[in-house]
Amino acid sequence: SSGQGALQVQDVTVRYGEFVALRNVSLTVNPGEIVVLLGANGAGKSTLFRTISGLQRPVSGTISYNGENITGRDAAEVIGRGVAQCAEGRMLFPELSIQKNLILGAFIHRRDKNGVNRGLEEVYELFPILRDKRHDAAGSMSGGQQQMLAIGRALMARPQLLLLDEPSLGLAPLVVEQVLEVTRRINATGTSVLLAEQNAYAALQIAHRGYVMENGALTLEGSQAALLGNDAVRSAYIGV
Ligand code: ATP
Repeated sequence: SSGQGALQVQDVTVRYGEFVALRNVSLTVNPGEIVVLLGANGAGKSTLFRTISGLQRPVSGTISYNGENITGRDAAEVIGRGVAQCAEGRMLFPELSIQKNLILGAFIHRRDKNGVNRGLEEVYELFPILRDKRHDAAGSMSGGQQQMLAIGRALMARPQLLLLDEPSLGLAPLVVEQVLEVTRRINATGTSVLLAEQNAYAALQIAHRGYVMENGALTLEGSQAALLGNDAVRSAYIGV
């Protein structure tokens, strides 16, 4: 499909020197979908996200977005086309205020004041806590609130496709549920989502489809129901 928010990764291979981090990875996100990417630490999920975002070049394969080839484009151009990444580890500026962090998220894409203010309004509507604390330092918030801020900052670029790399890393189960609920609401506004998660069971509750990555290769794909019912997925990622 080439509709808004459609991503196609085809036969992508990435190396770090001799080490093959991704091997012939092919994956699709259709417009409006939440697609979950499951995999253990070091499987290659972050490498795939960085490659889609233009932070890492593949040695072979193609990445297209809304029907256009974006392989090897730089990160600013990929964001400009509507793909925003919320990186693992959040990458916030802890000393800056929450609002400053959000405004920085808009910097590449929206320099006009009205656009930035509209973006802030949208983010504050989604996360009222960020409005309440907008003048506080980002680093003063809890881990869950910082994750909300990181997602809000990515949304400031007005993405049609949001790449969420382990948004629930290190968060308490209740906060994990909140992050996933917000992800569902963002998707309900029409934004496609590619979500890397180790909380497989919780992530599959909101996903339409998913893939499993092991040692740099995709080993399984299926619908939400198929993955939830798959014995290998259940024993490796759900712990039952
Ligand atoms: P995590 O959940 O730990 O982030 P991941 O599935 O996202 O895991 P990646 O971070 O993509 O995995 O890493 C995949 C493999 O590539 C790992 O073996 C990692 O050690 C290796 N790797 C990642 N970045 C580099 C790099 N810059 N140079 C060399 N090897 C790297």
